[in-house]
Amino acid sequence: METYREVLQTPIAQGYDVIVAGGGSAGFGAALNAARCGARTLLIEREYMIGGIMTAGLMAKIAIEPFMTGIPTEFLMRLGKEKMAIPYESFPAPWPPSEMVEVPVDAETCKLVAEDMLTEAGARILYGTLVVGAVREGETVTGVIVENKSGRSVIPAKVFIDASGDGDLCAYAGAEFEYGQNGNGVCSASNMLSRIAGVDLAKTFDYLEEHPDEITHRNRRGNESFFLNATILREYALADNPQFIQVGGFDESVKRTLEDPSVSDWEKNVLKLRSGVHFMNTPIRDQVLINAGRYTGLKGLDAQSVSDAIVECRRQNWCIFRFLKKNIPGFEHATLAETGSILGIRETRRVKCDYWHTVEDFQRRARFDDAILRSDDSIEFHNPAGGGIHFELYTKGEYEEISYRSILVKGLTNLMVVGRCWSADQLSLSANRNIGFCMGMGQAAGMAAAMAIQGGTDIRHIDIKALQKAVYPLKEN
Ligand SMILES: Cc1cc2nc3c(=O)[nH]c(=O)nc-3n(C[C@H](O)[C@H](O)[C@H](O)COP(=O)(O)OP(=O)(O)OC[C@H]3O[C@@H](n4cnc5c(N)ncnc54)[C@H](O)[C@@H]3O)c2cc1C
Repeated sequence: METYREVLQTPIAQGYDVIVAGGGSAGFGAALNAARCGARTLLIEREYMIGGIMTAGLMAKIAIEPFMTGIPTEFLMRLGKEKMAIPYESFPAPWPPSEMVEVPVDAETCKLVAEDMLTEAGARILYGTLVVGAVREGETVTGVIVENKSGRSVIPAKVFIDASGDGDLCAYAGAEFEYGQNGNGVCSASNMLSRIAGVDLAKTFDYLEEHPDEITHRNRRGNESFFLNATILREYALADNPQFIQVGGFDESVKRTLEDPSVSDWEKNVLKLRSGVHFMNTPIRDQVLINAGRYTGLKGLDAQSVSDAIVECRRQNWCIFRFLKKNIPGFEHATLAETGSILGIRETRRVKCDYWHTVEDFQRRARFDDAILRSDDSIEFHNPAGGGIHFELYTKGEYEEISYRSILVKGLTNLMVVGRCWSADQLSLSANRNIGFCMGMGQAAGMAAAMAIQGGTDIRHIDIKALQKAVYPLKEN
């Protein structure tokens, strides 16, 4: 490749105690807790909103372990006050802890609540800013290089937390990482989400009561599920205190469409990408969320590949919307309110830390003395080569723990990594990347960063018991 040699004189901006790169759910938790713990904190975000995949990506259904204390729970409670979260019947769960729950939220309200919480805590937010490099002195990162409307600058800090989802800052700082299956770049499949407004759900349930074969009588994990019938779905969705539902796959209508010669092969293929077409309810009664379609062969670190995928996935969402509008009563007057403005990328780089968490840790229900959170979510690996999802589940009451060492970037004294680019192999990441988990991991990192600065020590020598007491009070010794 031809190259052009630039000579740069980059201005050095005001410094901070803690810089968090990326304001998705992990970066939100990290910046919020660092600021709450007294650190002068800057959150740098490429988009113009907090939330990453949860908001810009429209994945507005927060999976969370109900025993997850602190910021993840608090965030949901604040959304709940606005009536913009559909609480699980037992959320927050009574002791003893039960299993992971899924809470639909309104993405727009998430943006506001996250900004409110960050500004109340005194964290500074810098939007529209891309981290494009790291300044390193020996094994210490001294600054991030950023680009935005104001140009290019270096922002110094004492501790850095990479929450970019892609491990960008870690890669710029020269950290080791894995990308794909043993480094081959082949990652869990991606897709885009969309939000449909103006749906008459009561009418849809009337129709489903008359056409029970439209409903897939298995849940997405392949289990027979007794409550997936229209009467119960109606009760859950339209009650005064609604609950999370997932409805689909409209098997009869899909079959009819697949036999229709006027429908193009591309459209037919979109309907076959998943087992049927499904929607989820949201806190706004006439709106539903579509998590459908699939894009394989994505190179998540290649701007052109991501752009091509967005164009294809947006078309897939329009195709699914038109299918629902044409075939399913209740959708006649609906509009496609919004498609994701970023792609739902499940994984790219996974950064190597002092501890590398593996699928064996999931299987042995790992326990760590320095655990900072626990997880009972299932392995959910979306086949990168075609259809299908590989699931492995815990039974009720089982869980694994995550070591503090899994967020301390190997070989660097002051760099941590949180969220979907943390130090995990591909399968164990698929169990440990839900939104509640990412916020919880960020929460631990933020506090640890502040503790290191205030204690005049480094991130490897903080008082781990004090950290656990604050962020993982359920730790059993
Ligand atoms: C299709 C799909 C369905 C899912 N379903 C669920 C579900 O039902 N429930 C659930 O809980 N979880 C679900 N997940 C998982 C969950 O949404 C993600 O794992 C989680 O949101 C990741 O959070 P994060 O903060 O690590 O990363 P992200 O949300 O990706 O956030 C990273 C942030 O960093 C910013 N950024 C990136 N690079 C830079 C840079 N160089 N400089 C500055 N900023 C940068 C991005 O703009 C983004 O805001 C799903 C994921 C996908 C893709």
